[in-house]
Amino acid sequence: MKSHKHINKSRTITNKQAVLAVVRRLRQAGYQALLAGGCVRDMLLGKLPHDYDVATDAKPQTISKIFPRTLTVGAQFGVVVVLWGGKQIEVATFRSDSSYEDGRRPDDVVFTDTRHDALRRDFTINGMFYDPITAEVIDYVGGRKDLQNRIIRAIGNPQQRFAEDHLRMLRAIRFASRLDFHIEKRTWKAILRHADKIQRISSERVADELERTMIDSHRAVGLQMIYDSGLDKKIFSMLDRPQLLTGIEIMRKLPKRCSFPLVLAGLLSGGSVKQAEALCHKLKLSNKLRRQVCWLVAGCPRLLQSIPLSRGMLKKWLAEPLFDPLLTLCRGYLQAMGKGQHLLYQLRRQIQQLGDEPISPPRLLDGHELIRLGAAPGPMVGQLVQELYLAQLENEIKTKSDATDWVKNWLLRHEGKNNPKNN
Ligand code: ATP
Ligand code: MG
Repeated sequence: MKSHKHINKSRTITNKQAVLAVVRRLRQAGYQALLAGGCVRDMLLGKLPHDYDVATDAKPQTISKIFPRTLTVGAQFGVVVVLWGGKQIEVATFRSDSSYEDGRRPDDVVFTDTRHDALRRDFTINGMFYDPITAEVIDYVGGRKDLQNRIIRAIGNPQQRFAEDHLRMLRAIRFASRLDFHIEKRTWKAILRHADKIQRISSERVADELERTMIDSHRAVGLQMIYDSGLDKKIFSMLDRPQLLTGIEIMRKLPKRCSFPLVLAGLLSGGSVKQAEALCHKLKLSNKLRRQVCWLVAGCPRLLQSIPLSRGMLKKWLAEPLFDPLLTLCRGYLQAMGKGQHLLYQLRRQIQQLGDEPISPPRLLDGHELIRLGAAPGPMVGQLVQELYLAQLENEIKTKSDATDWVKNWLLRHEGKNNPKNN
């Protein structure tokens, strides 16, 4: 009973409460403990951080001893996840990343002090600490000033920082677009110089950064910066640059809140389905995501070309799980192309006229019944099933007996072809 109570209580605490408790616990044990990185930036901007990271001088082994429940998957990099009150808090030992051989990951980490931990971080606005007990900001890198002036500036020598870790180029653009900040001149120049090297970064990490940039409402600004920096030449190598610019325009017209498949389809609607396939493949996106993106890219011209739709085809489109995002894409596409929306108004009228007619009624006859009526098992049944269902959606047939007559007629018309021996 007692433990139940504990679980219920612990589930209701916020991230912030959990992180404060973790900081207090480390301090009680005699260690330094501060909030670090993105959460400090967000708090100073008056935004609610989506997660809080703790930095400490306690080593991973010690952290694991202090807290009853921890995950130590990142311990070799100095990161331990503390489970507290149903939340996961990342607790990282102050460290500096030693040499970067491959432009992707540090070869080794060395545990150090607060200042060196600040210096290994990417941008000044991400390099601050906050003491949640004294409410003091600890800033070795001029982060507060850059935050006030809305500037993204690499910590240290930008050329070296982007040479160390090429993903930082995309991170700079993500923060600049999301926060509506300006990338400082030397930092920007370094991005231009290292842009080609983005191809050395794993597709998963690039895809993750792109997704974070693209689901944000400032996505078009971000993509424009990717274009202006030349990063697009490697990332979107399957599109030619005018196609990419068209894609950015389409994306710009999409609503603020959009799913990732929809924005990606917007960007790729500047090109063909084949190019969309190629990008999804290159970024190693999941099969589900790839199918959704390609369905949308293919669907947009297909739908627009077939308006006005027959009653049956209208119902078929309406029953598609991604029909709503497809309409949104079509709207954005037409706007970006400077075309009027009359096709979509026409479609809307058609949908209204449909009233409450069911869009995917149960089929009047199933496959077994068709075979009993004389259809030969095989590909022809598939075709018959589809044509029969369309006739039903068109309201050409309404009852089982209508359907039976319709099928007999169909079989007569397809007699020769229906015989498997002739296939
Ligand atoms: P978000 O709000 O999008 O999570 P964030 O700043 O918290 O932004 P994270 O990727 O969660 O970004 O990283 C946390 C912190 O770790 C950053 O604020 C930064 O200090 C540091 N960091 C992350 N990635 C890098 C990197 N590639 N190079 C240097 N420092 C990094
Ligand atoms: Mg974060």
